[in-house]
Amino acid sequence: MVDRDPLPFWGRGRVTLLGDAAHPGYPSGANGGTQAIIDARVLAYHLAVEPDPVAALAAYEAERRPVTSAIVLANREMDRVGRNKSAAPGAPSGESIEKVTEAYRKAAGEAEKLNSRASLTPPGVVRD
Ligand SMILES: Cc1cc2nc3c(=O)[nH]c(=O)nc-3n(C[C@H](O)[C@H](O)[C@H](O)COP(=O)(O)OP(=O)(O)OC[C@H]3O[C@@H](n4cnc5c(N)ncnc54)[C@H](O)[C@@H]3O)c2cc1C
Repeated sequence: MVDRDPLPFWGRGRVTLLGDAAHPGYPSGANGGTQAIIDARVLAYHLAVEPDPVAALAAYEAERRPVTSAIVLANREMDRVGRNKSAAPGAPSGESIEKVTEAYRKAAGEAEKLNSRASLTPPGVVRD
């Protein structure tokens, strides 16, 4: 039940973060577990296709940090408007719950787009 500002970086060298350690948010969007699983899949993908683990972790962070940062901020706004909390400095005010929910949905990804994305299974791996 903790919300944190998006981090400017997740790691260095062979160290990185994943899931709530990387991008904790209020459970308003009910999506943190899902995002942690996507982190794991993207991380595994880059480690599988990139021989250099440092480059793999950098590619993972480059792909996931912007997406999850946007989700955390949209989630925060949805939580604020949903609970009628006062706006943080600089936050858009006077937004309806429909608007902030739609912004959250866009940040998290629309189902059709997510379902039509390329598989994260590395090429050459045979699935059952
Ligand atoms: C009320 C609530 C409702 C939620 N509903 C949803 C939902 O409907 N859908 C959804 O997708 N997400 C939901 N979430 C979010 C989801 O639970 C989290 O985003 C997800 O569990 C994060 O997974 P994680 O593996 O990153 O972290 P965690 O699940 O927190 O796992 C971290 C683990 O590390 C362990 N640990 C900590 N320190 C150490 C240490 N020093 N040594 C060893 N182990 C350690 C902890 O005990 C824990 O088991 C909800 C969260 C809350 C609080």
